Amino acid sequence: MRTLGILGGMSWESTAHLYQLLNRGLAARLGGLHSAKLLLHSVDFAEIEPLQRRGDWAAAAALLGRAAAGLKAAGAEGLLIATNTMHKVADEIEALSGLPLLHIVDATGAALRAAGIERAGLLATRYTMEQDFYRERMRARHGIELLTPDAAGRAEVHRIIYEELCRGRVLAGSRAFYQQQLAALTDAGAQAVILGCTEICLLLDPAGPAPLPLFDSTSIHAQSALDWMLAPAGAGAAAPQSNAFTGDIEVTS
Ligand code: GLU
Repeated sequence: MRTLGILGGMSWESTAHLYQLLNRGLAARLGGLHSAKLLLHSVDFAEIEPLQRRGDWAAAAALLGRAAAGLKAAGAEGLLIATNTMHKVADEIEALSGLPLLHIVDATGAALRAAGIERAGLLATRYTMEQDFYRERMRARHGIELLTPDAAGRAEVHRIIYEELCRGRVLAGSRAFYQQQLAALTDAGAQAVILGCTEICLLLDPAGPAPLPLFDSTSIHAQSALDWMLAPAGAGAAAPQSNAFTGDIEVTS
């Protein structure tokens, strides 16, 4: 089994869920007392979030790059950034770390492609929905076009992530709002919706009733990481084993 380094704490609520998914998934694949070989650097999100708001992505990349280099020094063989948003600086973090990165857009894109999806809705932070880094990689590498809520919808989706979900608040009214966004994205022509923020699965059950298929980035990233951890040395990702979300992942260095 390869050892995976995780940059987490963005927020810790979703990292805790990811930790459980990785260990449960590993135990399901190998059985017995097996658990995942992980190194976690969990940051203080209160130091990262103001950098996002100010647009100081270079400082965020430097901070996370140092943390990732520490994971390599501690024995990590690959890197997972446990947030969609901070993939804005994935290339910088990967370069500073010296580790191959398991990119969340590639894992999600592969899962969508495997399901024949070409036009997907995206619920995420405003950075992920409105800036190019996510949309452009999904289009160029995976041939998938993304639809997002209108401006007011994007603002509220973003607010709920930072003011509620990242603080462990899961409110029925916010769930109803997200469900309205699913309906609107369905009406706009989406074939599926990406839960493109790692906390959204804490609000919306990805396996629950929905007007269209939901692709949960946290779970897809975890399944792809398990494929990589269990792949033979020198190989790419392992063949999908446990469910439809285990597409091939691209290790970008
Ligand atoms: N975890 C979230 C994401 O997947 C948002 C928090 C952050 O900005 O990192 O984008």
